[in-house]
Amino acid sequence: LPTDLFPDRQNSAGIDLSDPLVRVPLMQRLAAMEERRWHAEPTFRSNAEGETAPITMPQDLTHEVGTRRDTLVEEVETAITLAQQIQPGWDSLGGEKRALLLEAAADLFEEHTDEFLALCQREAGKTLPDAVLELREAVDFLRFYAVEARRLFTHRFDLPGPTGEDNYISLHGRGVFATISPWNFPLAIFIGPAAAALAAGNTVVAKPAEQTPLLAALAVKLCHEAGIPEEVFQILPGAGEVGEAITSDPRIAGVAFTGSTDTARIINRTLAARDAPIATFIAETGGQNAMIVDSSALPEQVTRDVIAGAFQSAGQRCSALRVLYVQDDVADELLTMIRGAFETLNIGDPVNLNIDVGPVIDPDAKAALERHVARRKKNGRTMWRRKLPSGTSQGCFVAPTIIEMNSIHDLKRENFGPVLHFIRYKAADLGKVVDDINSTGYGLTCGLHSRIDGTRRFVESRIRVGNFYVNRNQIGAVVESQPFGGEGLSGTGPKAGGPHYVKAFATERAVCIDT
Ligand code: GLU
Repeated sequence: LPTDLFPDRQNSAGIDLSDPLVRVPLMQRLAAMEERRWHAEPTFRSNAEGETAPITMPQDLTHEVGTRRDTLVEEVETAITLAQQIQPGWDSLGGEKRALLLEAAADLFEEHTDEFLALCQREAGKTLPDAVLELREAVDFLRFYAVEARRLFTHRFDLPGPTGEDNYISLHGRGVFATISPWNFPLAIFIGPAAAALAAGNTVVAKPAEQTPLLAALAVKLCHEAGIPEEVFQILPGAGEVGEAITSDPRIAGVAFTGSTDTARIINRTLAARDAPIATFIAETGGQNAMIVDSSALPEQVTRDVIAGAFQSAGQRCSALRVLYVQDDVADELLTMIRGAFETLNIGDPVNLNIDVGPVIDPDAKAALERHVARRKKNGRTMWRRKLPSGTSQGCFVAPTIIEMNSIHDLKRENFGPVLHFIRYKAADLGKVVDDINSTGYGLTCGLHSRIDGTRRFVESRIRVGNFYVNRNQIGAVVESQPFGGEGLSGTGPKAGGPHYVKAFATERAVCIDT
């Protein structure tokens, strides 16, 4: 791709938490929001009574952060009708005006930094550094997709006309897009797909994860304040039934989903069963992500990257490291270092700045991870487990765990939390290691630590993943620089934050004019 496609645009600078002049007042402002309560409800709610659910903090289930009024089925119906009526107008507004609105929203997001950070911590249990990264990514998505709106939707693309005809292609919105987003990036992956759909001239009905509707509600409110009409971008909070009502509606032209592979399959079936035009389906799903470390790797660097990849965000990233392959000649030395760093991780309430590992999202997530650890325990292999500190019993904390395994095939499912598995391998078996990783069917991230160029070239040419990272950790893809998304069971592509993403939300029209 020509590099001049992307004019001057810089990713958000974020916040320098190492500067006490920034950090201390910020922490004070966040603490002052402790008693604040938020609310999420459908953009156009009827007067009918609806189910209202409390939203509690993952780190303290007794503390309510706000409430969620679920969307009723008849409200889904109205939402899609309104979104459909206004869509041609939004589409014909053109890429430049839509870009300006997305950029105005990005500015408002930055002006509301404190509120977003407080909510990331309280609604989603994020550490402050993770919260800062989340807000940065959200702002970067808005601004990057604004640039894409200008690049793709402000002019026609002329094509050769060997017969003397005038040929061109223009891009347009597909119609009403549904976005269904996860709780692990409740702001960035809520706003990213929605912004892309809006940039492309679609209107959007957005269902945030049932655990984290409050961040999403604030994001939508600010988009409206920025000038995006309410009918154009609507929020429909609720649980799975709301998602089901949206995706089974024949007027939905496309769905952008991020979440589990199982749910992606359900949505795909629902879309296919409708008596309706074939919908576009963009899914970003799970992974069984590995890292391969050979004997040429730098142990300190590996230790840092393994700890970040497996335990940052309490392992709740679909990019997170799940299976570490260590070459047997260096395994003991390396695992001793990794264990040393693992033993120093601070576990606890992420509103405290020194915390490395916060809670998992809810009691179901905790129970699933505990079941997995208990099953592996029976197996009798090496297992290191941290003890949970006192004061964590009110929340959904899972003790960080490292488990030895024989084969990646011992893992039947993605274990979405602070649990790392490791396998020793022999140098001569590198090809088999890569084939084993590929044979899980997932293909999201893979890390390699090696100083040998030939090894890097070999793994790069054979591994089937969307994001391959060499001599660094495998989380935290940066908008525009590291477009993110997998293949196989990990998703359909195209990659979020990349040059092909927004186009997937659009339809192409080829025009041929005889002169
Ligand atoms: N883009 C994120 C990363 O690179 C992961 C997204 C996800 O967990 O869905 O870490």
